Amino acid sequence: MKIWLDGALRDSESARVSVFDHGLTVGDGIFETVKAVGGRPFALTRHLGRLTHSARGLGLPDPDLDEVRRACAAVLEANPVPLGRLRLTYTGGHGPLGSDRGDKGPTLVVALGETTRRPDTTAVVTVPWTRNERGALTGLKTTSYAENVVALARAHEHGATEALFGNTVGQLCEGTGSNVFVVLDGEIHTPPLHSGCLAGITRQLVAEWTGAKETDLPLDVLREADEIFLTSTLRDVQAVHRVDDRELSGAPGPVTAKAMRIFDERSAADIDP
Ligand code: PLP
Repeated sequence: MKIWLDGALRDSESARVSVFDHGLTVGDGIFETVKAVGGRPFALTRHLGRLTHSARGLGLPDPDLDEVRRACAAVLEANPVPLGRLRLTYTGGHGPLGSDRGDKGPTLVVALGETTRRPDTTAVVTVPWTRNERGALTGLKTTSYAENVVALARAHEHGATEALFGNTVGQLCEGTGSNVFVVLDGEIHTPPLHSGCLAGITRQLVAEWTGAKETDLPLDVLREADEIFLTSTLRDVQAVHRVDDRELSGAPGPVTAKAMRIFDERSAADIDP
């Protein structure tokens, strides 16, 4: 496997990042996961916009987007897969132990994993831990993902593939790696960004293409919603057939099925919408 590091393609077995890289020691880094279909990155312009937004939020220098585009193209060309997930990681770089940044500049790594199309439906659980809608990192796609790792492990213990968080004021927020939508009386709703959720690229596209509304929703809405679905780069639009011990028989319901169809058609028609 060839990856991109320090301005060039390298063999992943021999590529090395410093053990003092702040991405490792203090989680000072940001990332993007970009779907690659037939060797072409999907919605790359939107992902690069979010990467820059996250970098600015962390006070990292703006990433060189020309280099990132070249890196994605080179990694995809070197590792042909039908459906892939590009992983762009951009960290504070080599620095002293502790939280002060060093002066060597950021580290950029672009890697690729093969993936498969997700199942149409899945089970989710809610977790007792909250997303902080007012934190310094809220809305940034940082590599500080340990909270999500813990929550996802809880989901797996319950035979689910995703864990959903409420925020500190009891509103529905998002999953560990996905945004959440609910259908109420035929209308699609998703939590607004002030709930503390990430501005998911798939969320944005689905909202644009289906007219879904941003609505403050109590976490309890999951007990009564007619339909529930998740969105993410790797799930696309995925219906929920069980939330905690509530079964949603017939998932995907009609509104979700339509959103799935619209997403599949529009994303197949435009690789960089
Ligand atoms: N929320 C979180 C916390 C995520 O990590 C992700 C994606 O990894 C999403 C939402 C969905 O975002 P996107 O549609 O851009 O993949």
